[in-house]
Amino acid sequence: MKTQEIMARLQVKYPGESEYLQAVQEVLESVEEVYNRHPEFEKAKIVERMVEPDRIFTFRVTWVDDKGEVQTNTGYRIQFNSAIGPYKGGIRFHKAVTPSMLKFLGFEQTFKNALTTLPMGGAKGGSDFDPVGKSNDEIMRFCQAFMYELWQCIGPDQDIPAGDVGVGGREIGYMYGMYKKLARQYNTGVLTGKGATWGGSILRPKATGFGALYFTQNLLHRAGKDIAGCKVAISGFGNVAWGACTKAKELGAKVVAISGPDGVCRIPGGITSEMIDYMLVMRASNRNKVEDMAVKFPELAEFEAGKKAWSVPVDIALPCAFQNELSEDDARELKANGCWCCCEVSNMGCQPGAIKFFQSNGILFAPGKAVNAGGVATSGLEMTQNASHISWSGKEVDEKLHFIMDSIHAACVKYGEQPDGSVDYVKGANIAGFMKVATAMLEQGII
Ligand code: GLU
Repeated sequence: MKTQEIMARLQVKYPGESEYLQAVQEVLESVEEVYNRHPEFEKAKIVERMVEPDRIFTFRVTWVDDKGEVQTNTGYRIQFNSAIGPYKGGIRFHKAVTPSMLKFLGFEQTFKNALTTLPMGGAKGGSDFDPVGKSNDEIMRFCQAFMYELWQCIGPDQDIPAGDVGVGGREIGYMYGMYKKLARQYNTGVLTGKGATWGGSILRPKATGFGALYFTQNLLHRAGKDIAGCKVAISGFGNVAWGACTKAKELGAKVVAISGPDGVCRIPGGITSEMIDYMLVMRASNRNKVEDMAVKFPELAEFEAGKKAWSVPVDIALPCAFQNELSEDDARELKANGCWCCCEVSNMGCQPGAIKFFQSNGILFAPGKAVNAGGVATSGLEMTQNASHISWSGKEVDEKLHFIMDSIHAACVKYGEQPDGSVDYVKGANIAGFMKVATAMLEQGII
């Protein structure tokens, strides 16, 4: 495989799609050596096919705001790869959503889903709709208008969307309600992240955060360390950060910082259960301000505007918010303050310079596609429940999730172990996911 040549071609074809190109480059660099040992991959042009989405749907979404004004956004669904199962991946509502962003996420999702051990292909969707400052009614009207177009493209054996940034249980509820009305079918298998009383998995809201901590535990265990007593910094206060805080606290770690787009909240005594509960209120308010935590708990938390969670001295950094949220400068600051581990929970949360810095300075690092795969894995379990009309308890799902995260860690070690005994988790995750998808593509012929 000629990574440079493929990248040069993509750069000409997709100028400006920097996030997508960044994601492709990382995967190609990781798998090149293994790929070159398989001439049958080269012959079938596996990589050239894999970097292009199977198809992209783009549609107009028009809705009416609370003032009676007509608003128009753009909706997308990118069905990236269905070699190992139906398309699966979240829907993101964020003002910065572009086809490039969703392409990078759909590409990453393909490898992540392959890591879960479950049969799911990769997809991503969303809209440039900005939930910040929107009322509940506006959110509902937008979700309904979005589904009015999307419903024709999805189905339980075709494409199964879920939540992502800006889309949680409430939004999935509104979308499912509209799907049901249009399709005239109670087809629970069409979306995951549903409410627990109507086909959802009781563990799904917390699953990404829980899974991330199970993976982190595995990684620390292999390095001879223990999470109990460690200080942790977490970015964000959505579903993912909430689940991560809950499990980190349960495992005896101390979450001493959370952050938002407005700044950081330092919590010297460690986050409390009441504060973790309050994160849900903050998310539902659509204000997108972490300062609200310090206003609610002035004795426990202190807010500083314009600063990131990475400015607080910690042992472990867990980016849980958005892509490229941790720069090389942030990585340097973390190290200078004593940090020795970073598990990326957000998709592509660390910039390439930060990853290189971590890896060349002996800081344990694992990429989002491995660390956060527990979310989509639990979606896969929800699909199984829906298809077989059964319902597992939270405990049963948690056990399965734990087992899946252990397996993902083992796969990363299998493909990423270095001669000195350390593990390159980036390489390990990329090769493990790639081998599975590439083999399936090869076996299914030239399509
Ligand atoms: N959006 C989540 C992710 O990035 C979950 C996707 C899903 O559950 O389908 O993996």
